[in-house]
Amino acid sequence: MSEQTAQLELSRRTFILGALGGCALLGTGVLGLQGCSSASAPTQEALGLPELPFKEDALEPYISKQTIGFHYGKHHKAYVDKTAELVRGTEFADLHLVEIIKKTVANPDRMPLFNNAAQAWNHAFYWKNLTPGGGGKPQGEIGKRVDQSFGSFENFKKEMANAAMSQFGSGWAWLVADEKGLKVVKTSNADTPVAHGQTPLLTIDVWEHAYYLDYQNRRADYVNAVIDHLFNWKFAESHLTKA
Ligand code: MN
Repeated sequence: MSEQTAQLELSRRTFILGALGGCALLGTGVLGLQGCSSASAPTQEALGLPELPFKEDALEPYISKQTIGFHYGKHHKAYVDKTAELVRGTEFADLHLVEIIKKTVANPDRMPLFNNAAQAWNHAFYWKNLTPGGGGKPQGEIGKRVDQSFGSFENFKKEMANAAMSQFGSGWAWLVADEKGLKVVKTSNADTPVAHGQTPLLTIDVWEHAYYLDYQNRRADYVNAVIDHLFNWKFAESHLTKA
């Protein structure tokens, strides 16, 4: 192989890898990327700590590098490690997270596994649903669906912020899709819409570890920052076909 051919071959491989990386971020669905690996779909998360889809300081000034460092590197990792420890040598060992979540949600004996697996899944979803330069009023198909279901983006924003603010203690606020359209729901502690047959589109983690270093007790400021500046609407849109 000549040096020039070798260089071309290298750039072709780099291009293909880059394209696949893009697929992994966008997932499958309405964007016409059905040919991409389905392993990247959020409902198929395998065990293990997924890579953060942005640099640790990429969400500043809304979420600091320090918060991401602890939240991803310590909290999320701990849920993943504990899940791996709890499934070792059991019938759950080879299952994807969503299968573990669905098989343990109604079983009080498996509550520690449910809690850790659900938190591992919720956090993998949370990172992908945030992006620098995100937030605000969505365009395209997802924008249309928000208007249809809530009347306006402002109404959606009010409902989402209200769910995030009124969740007493730890939990999550979600935008989900079901057969009737889009709606806002909230869950306590580790609970997750995927355990209940709903399709999540977006979420806000309202555990204090998600915002306390940056906002202390001002949860509303964190919630509004996520809605106005960080929501990844392309990610939300990529799940619409599964709704
Ligand atoms: Mn969290």
